[in-house]
Amino acid sequence: MKVWVDKPKCTGCAHCHDVCPVAVFEMKDTNAADVNSDVAPPEQQWKGQEDPTVYAKWKDVQDGHNHFKEKSVAVNGEACILCQACLIECEGECIHIVDDNNTQYDSIYK
Ligand code: SF4
Ligand code: SF4
Repeated sequence: MKVWVDKPKCTGCAHCHDVCPVAVFEMKDTNAADVNSDVAPPEQQWKGQEDPTVYAKWKDVQDGHNHFKEKSVAVNGEACILCQACLIECEGECIHIVDDNNTQYDSIYK
């Protein structure tokens, strides 16, 4: 299984980190040297620029989450069991998973 996060769309809500039963995700500071250490393609890596649509939607939401301070990184994608829990919890709809048959699963916020 390959798992990655489209970083400019990640709100830093940590839902993926909290629900994943096999600890695929780690939250990283936006300035961390290893913030792009998953298999995201170049255009989905963090380069210091938030996705404007996602930012506008979530920047003022006060729900106890530390929005836009951290990014989720799929550091342990090989462990994914495709339970799909993260895919419905992802605020930025920015988690992507490709299984061994090359089928891609994309997150849709519930
Ligand atoms: S689908 Fe994979 S990455 Fe997502 S919560 Fe389940 S095991 Fe973790
Ligand atoms: S659930 Fe989505 S938006 Fe929230 S931290 Fe994880 S990848 Fe980022």
